[in-house]
This record gives sequence, C-alpha cells and structure tokens, in this order.
Amino acid sequence: METVRGVLAGSQLPRLETQMLLQHVLRVPRSWLIAHDTDPLDPQAVARFQRLAGRRLRGEPMAYLVGQREFMGHEFKVGPGVLIPRPETELLVETALRHLDKPGLDAPRVLDLGTGSGAVAISIALACPRARVVATDVSVQALAVAADNARNLGAEVEFLCGNWYEPIAGQPRFDVIVSNPPYIAASDPHLEQGDLRFEPRGALTDGGDGLGALEIITRGATSRLRPGGVLWMEHGWDQAPAVRSLLQSTGFRQVGSSSDLAGIERITGGSL
Ligand code: GLN
Repeated sequence: METVRGVLAGSQLPRLETQMLLQHVLRVPRSWLIAHDTDPLDPQAVARFQRLAGRRLRGEPMAYLVGQREFMGHEFKVGPGVLIPRPETELLVETALRHLDKPGLDAPRVLDLGTGSGAVAISIALACPRARVVATDVSVQALAVAADNARNLGAEVEFLCGNWYEPIAGQPRFDVIVSNPPYIAASDPHLEQGDLRFEPRGALTDGGDGLGALEIITRGATSRLRPGGVLWMEHGWDQAPAVRSLLQSTGFRQVGSSSDLAGIERITGGSL
C-alpha cells in the first residue's frame, strides 16, 4: 500500500506542490500529512493524485488543479475561465482601501473593471462594508465564478456583464475605480510560458501593445468619477511611465505609482 511518505519520495514535483495536491485529494490539512505519513492511503486517492501530478508536470497551474487561490486572506475559487489572482495585485486593493478610509466618504461607490474571479472587488467589499461595490467583466463565465466567490465569502458586490464601462451606463459616478486589466503585449513571449499558457488570453493581453485597455479605462474614468475620485490600475513592470503620462494628459492630478514587494512599479493612479 502506498503511504504519504512513499508518494512524497516518488513524486517528480517539488515537495510543496506534491503536498498541496495530496491535501487536495485527501481533503486534509498539512498537519495531517505529517502526522499520518506512514498510514496506508486509499488506492483511489493515490490514483487521483497521480492524475493531477501528471497534469501539473505538463504545466497546468496549481491554482486550477486545486481549484482555489488565496488572496487578501480569503480563499477564492478559480478555474480556467479566470485569471489566477496574483499576490502583487493585493497592492491595488490596499491602495483602494487607504483611499476609502479617508474621512468624508460615508457610502463610497467603488467600481472594479474586468473583475475576473472577483478577487479585487470582493476583497474591497469585505474590508470596507460601507462601500457599494460594482464589478464588470465581459466574460459570463468569469462573472459566474465571481458571483460564486462573493456568495461563499459573504460579500455584497453588484456584478454586471459587458465591456469595461458599458454595463454601468446610467449609474451614479464613483469615488474609486480600480482595474487589473490585460496589459501584456501580444508579442510578449511570457504568454507562452508557465501559468499564462493556461489562463484566458483576454485577461492577459489587449491583443496589441499592452496599453490598449489601460487607455480605454483611463479615458472612460473622467466621466465616471466624482470630483476628487481616484483611479488606480495595475500594469506591467515597464509600463509605469507610460501610464503616468496617459493619466496626466487625460487630466488626472496627483498622479503616482506604487511598487510591489519585488520593488517593481506595479500600479499607477491619480485623482480628478
Ligand atoms: N500579472 C500578470 C502576469 O504578468 C498579468 C495579469 C494581467 O495582464 N492583468 O503574469
């Protein structure tokens, strides 16, 4: 009979990934694996683990194999129809929350464009319950995942289907607009590497130079933000100067960028 110890010794995957897949198949915490490392394992569970390990060896993202990813301390359900939440995107949430903390914003309105799994919108709604959060996405499949996540995590978010600002026509203006849009250039070789190969193309690239969606969002924000409202967008490692000039030429003030934990300017924003 196979044991946890045997599976770990025989796996070609990094130890942590083997443990994560085993935990997923056996539905146990890490501590169980350690305490039961010589227990015989159910052969069906071992077979399920082997199938997942094979898919991982062929490159499928861990988050899709286990069906979830942690973001801002919450477990988000994810699948091939949505971008996998990245740790650096927490900076976008934290920046929005800092603005929402400012005195005078009693029932602030927040808009998240291209919400995907809903990670950004839901994290904001959970951390700032007095905010009214609206989130849009062009993908029906993504919105189904996002709505599921909101329900599971107990967040109140209004999800609307459509391209960028299209579905919010007629809504009152917003105090905060955030977005983690597709910003990778279509020619970027990273699209053919790692997790990105398996993620929805439309969540990663605008099909052009990578600035297309950032431009649409910036120009559209001027008529959707209240006076004093802020726009913050995530972007690629080398796009901060371009996004700052875009915001400045569109009429934003207090334009600036913030760096992620790796020291890369990762988000840029400004106020109207
Ligand atoms: N941050 C992602 C990556 O570079 C891209 C996400 C996006 O385009 N919004 O892997």
